[in-house]
Amino acid sequence: MKKNNRRDFLRKSLLGASAAALMPVTLRSKSGNNFSGIPELPTRVMGRTGIRTPLLSFGTSGINDTGLIKTAYHSGIKVFFSATYYGEGNNERILGEGLRGLPRDSFILGTAVPADGLNTRSGLFTTPFDINAYIKKANACLSRFGMDHVDFFLFPYASKKETILNKNLLKALEELKIQGKTRFTGIASHGGTEEALKAAADSGFYDIAMISYNYKTANKEALDKAIEYATKSGMGVVAMKTASGVYNDKSGAAINVTAALKWVLQNENIASIVSGMTSIEQLQKNLAMLDNLKMTDQEKKELGTAAIENKFGLYCRQCSECLPQCPHNLDIPTIMRSYMYAYGYRDMKKAWYTLADAGLEGNPCSNCDICNVRCSAGFDVKGKISDISRLRNIPEDFLYSI
Ligand code: SF4
Ligand code: SF4
Repeated sequence: MKKNNRRDFLRKSLLGASAAALMPVTLRSKSGNNFSGIPELPTRVMGRTGIRTPLLSFGTSGINDTGLIKTAYHSGIKVFFSATYYGEGNNERILGEGLRGLPRDSFILGTAVPADGLNTRSGLFTTPFDINAYIKKANACLSRFGMDHVDFFLFPYASKKETILNKNLLKALEELKIQGKTRFTGIASHGGTEEALKAAADSGFYDIAMISYNYKTANKEALDKAIEYATKSGMGVVAMKTASGVYNDKSGAAINVTAALKWVLQNENIASIVSGMTSIEQLQKNLAMLDNLKMTDQEKKELGTAAIENKFGLYCRQCSECLPQCPHNLDIPTIMRSYMYAYGYRDMKKAWYTLADAGLEGNPCSNCDICNVRCSAGFDVKGKISDISRLRNIPEDFLYSI
């Protein structure tokens, strides 16, 4: 579809977002995937699932508006991802509500369900995996969505081979498939991704992987090889954290998000970008990006310059090298993610919940005269923790009035 047509469509859609939601959607073709009046976005195949996914998918971590979900759907986006830990399950409710009334076979829905007892820092289970507890959690997701099944249950924070291949985890996911609660399974990986991709691919069990991937990615060559390995094995690979934020630093210096997303899609092994969109403007910009994936010299220059001048910006590579260095045993990679959500995305709710996940109370760094942590990205770890720790002083119920 030509840029203008799509924009016209989007504009009309925006003008009548709520009306569009009430309009009956008519099946147009025998494919079961095409609906009249809805633009068709460029697609790639998501591995052995055979799903032709638009290059742009919707990540709902910051969503608080069902209208935006409906508008995205009516703009051609068909794949939506959530996670039980986004807004403590609230995002799954909002997403389910946003998709309510649309033909179930016209969209693809996935969510990440963490397992009790997984140490997200080490990627290892600290207690034996409980099959029934996991299935119960997955069922709770379905209740929040108000759906009888999803298309993907993803196992998040996947990094270690022994965890990914844990027999009871595989049994639980298999059982969910047998019960018709999910069509496919996958992993989501924030760090240790090369090992995770290889293990998931070798298992022959997992259908897709959602991975952090952006122009600031460290060890790109090795990661690209792992992505290729996974796709050759039949897995579909989708990318998250694709812009590594909207702002490059705390001052509010903006990232060229369009260029950053295009950069991701230059890798044809990436089936789709899972973009955490929170506004119509963002949606519109991301859709416009799909009209021409070729990167201009200016875009390449901007990303290159940004990478050299401010190599990592707010983006923590989740390399975990800092972990053994902190005598207070702080979950620094998770706290740094919270910092990025706060300043890079201005998503205070997500930042707050991520800090809660890290178990951060008060400012533990205030007890250290000197910080011995040397971050591989050169972050002032103590400064960033001292800054972001203030967010936890906000009571949880206030978050929803921000
Ligand atoms: S060493 Fe730095 S980049 Fe690596 S996980 Fe720790 S804070 Fe993040
Ligand atoms: S200042 Fe903070 S990060 Fe550094 S060693 Fe102390 S508690 Fe750990």
